Amino acid sequence: MISVEEALERILGLVEVLEKEEKPILDCLGQVLGEDAYASFDVPPYDNSAMDGYALQSASTVGATAESPSILRVIGEIAAGHVSTLSVEAGTAVRIMTGAPMPKGADAVVPFELTDEVERRHAGRHGKQVGIRCSVGIGANVRYAGEDIKRNGLVMRRGKLLRPAAIGVLASLGKASAVVIRRPVIGILATGDEVLDISQPLPPGKIYNSNSYSLACQVRSSGGIPKLLGVAPDRAEQLSAALRCGLDCDMLITSGGVSLGDYDVVKDVLAAEGDVSFWTVRMKPGKPIAFGVFERKGEKKVPHLGLPGNPVSSMVTFEIFARPAIRKMMGMVDFSRRYVTAIMEGSIRNADGRRVFARVTVSKKGGQYFAKLTGSQGSGVLTSMLEADGLAVIPETVVAVEPSDLVEVMMLDWNEVDGF
Ligand code: AMP
Ligand code: MG
Repeated sequence: MISVEEALERILGLVEVLEKEEKPILDCLGQVLGEDAYASFDVPPYDNSAMDGYALQSASTVGATAESPSILRVIGEIAAGHVSTLSVEAGTAVRIMTGAPMPKGADAVVPFELTDEVERRHAGRHGKQVGIRCSVGIGANVRYAGEDIKRNGLVMRRGKLLRPAAIGVLASLGKASAVVIRRPVIGILATGDEVLDISQPLPPGKIYNSNSYSLACQVRSSGGIPKLLGVAPDRAEQLSAALRCGLDCDMLITSGGVSLGDYDVVKDVLAAEGDVSFWTVRMKPGKPIAFGVFERKGEKKVPHLGLPGNPVSSMVTFEIFARPAIRKMMGMVDFSRRYVTAIMEGSIRNADGRRVFARVTVSKKGGQYFAKLTGSQGSGVLTSMLEADGLAVIPETVVAVEPSDLVEVMMLDWNEVDGF
């Protein structure tokens, strides 16, 4: 038996970061930047007003109060999006809107609320003059050019995961497209004579193929592009043919056919077609997995991950091994999920020294997290994954967890950003 870490290390050792692609920024959400991004101009590009108010010289407001306002002559107005030739001098002001370029000579803005504009309007004396009711310093309510991003500055390093704000920053720099690491295409093949596609009526002795669908969605939410390769029966020729259909993918994931009781043919084919080894991993669920590479005629090798057939085992082993592999291919460096420490509300037995991944709901009460088993933990009980917010990770050395013991829970839905 090998440890979870050892298995993961071997898997990550065989997958590589994929090539770059350039595409419109809106399509880059959740991908990793492939090149450093520099600013070719200041953001904001010009000094502008942070408020609707009056642009003026701060010196014109010295000593101004509500009782004794500084009365300034209003020489015009500037709306956002318009450049003005107005020039502010001592004793004058320009009415200015948020985002409008600062007029020449002005060094501060006083917002409307701190002027007598409203009263003048009511009195019908609006327009020619304004009373400023406070004194302001140089730079008050002014946003300077380059305040957000400096011209020629490094804005984002390659390797950065593009979240919504990053896409917005690229847009603020006028970049319509970005160079990112492309998403991996992951071929998904179910195996088993008893496994039937969901388009068919269900005869006795058969079950529907659920694994391909849960795995495809896990691929998608990890950032990859799933390619469903159907269901292969436990027969050598058909299995080989189905596998070959997946050799143009960046990684192949199969489910089923790797446990001890399986028809040897599945293992034989995997071993014959590729350089695949079978591991017993010290974990529960999901002990048996296969891993290796398939040769793509003379080209680079396609990594293959053979997950167990039991629906929960296939999802949990995907989470532990396939998700990090996909994220590595996408150029990410931090593959780990977020963990919370929670008080266990039930008991868990760990009889055979494996690492247990128990499906739990997580709630927060009084500043403390609580974890509760989602019900039957059988590896065939897919509904135990339905309500799971996370996987409580019980170390190999812990034989039992009792109510109110602390457990570490790997949260399943706390992605930094979904891969869509
Ligand atoms: P195996 O790993 O092939 O021995 O399969 C273990 C269990 O998982 C068996 O009960 C299979 O019927 C079931 N199983 C295998 N593949 C699938 C699948 N694609 N969808 C749902 N259940 C499956
Ligand atoms: Mg099988």
